[in-house]
Amino acid sequence: MASNITWHPSLSRKERNEYRGQKGMTIWFTGLSASGKSTVATALEQHLLHLGLASYRLDGDNVRFGLNKDLGFSEKDRNENIRRIAEVAKLFADSSTIALTSFISPYKADRQTARELHAASAAGSTDEPIPFIEVYVDVPIAVAEQRDPKGLYKKARAGEIKDFTGISAPYEAPDHPEIVIKTHESSVEECVAQIVEWLQAKGLIELKSK
Ligand code: ADP
Repeated sequence: MASNITWHPSLSRKERNEYRGQKGMTIWFTGLSASGKSTVATALEQHLLHLGLASYRLDGDNVRFGLNKDLGFSEKDRNENIRRIAEVAKLFADSSTIALTSFISPYKADRQTARELHAASAAGSTDEPIPFIEVYVDVPIAVAEQRDPKGLYKKARAGEIKDFTGISAPYEAPDHPEIVIKTHESSVEECVAQIVEWLQAKGLIELKSK
């Protein structure tokens, strides 16, 4: 019955998080091509879902071919690519979802923009800012190049791909990432466990009993 519907003129993020029973946040993976961002982010997404926590991964497949299909790889387009990804991740996080992003995101300034967008999410409200957790997937380029699951390094070395991160374009490693994972030293499961333990220690996730 309509008369039983109660509503507020607006709903705060805190209230949304309480109704949903989890906190929204963005977990931003950055690292070289083939460092393991997608592999670990996918495993983390599955693990969080198994724990009963809504999570969703943005990656090249679901962003580059849709929202950002008008963008190329010039510096300006790369900046815009990351800006849009950050805005979308922020919206997912604002809806109490754990947004995972797996993009090389080689430039510090772009990642800083993403961080600042999240930090600014509390402006003008009583809400806390949306947490932004930068995960640096740190592997030596030699390891990434040896893995080369898509043959991209080989093509870049042959000059078939220009502006390839780590070969002919820079990768600017984060100075103060929240988490560093080393996929050449730890298994996928260990990397996922490391991130989950960090989130638990910071009180960002609580394990629900199913
Ligand atoms: P990125 O998303 O950073 O380009 P991918 O996840 O697509 O990287 O590829 C990483 C490759 O490294 C995959 O072939 C994966 O199987 C392999 N790999 C080996 N060990 C690990 C590990 N511990 N964590 C993640 N990936 C690993």
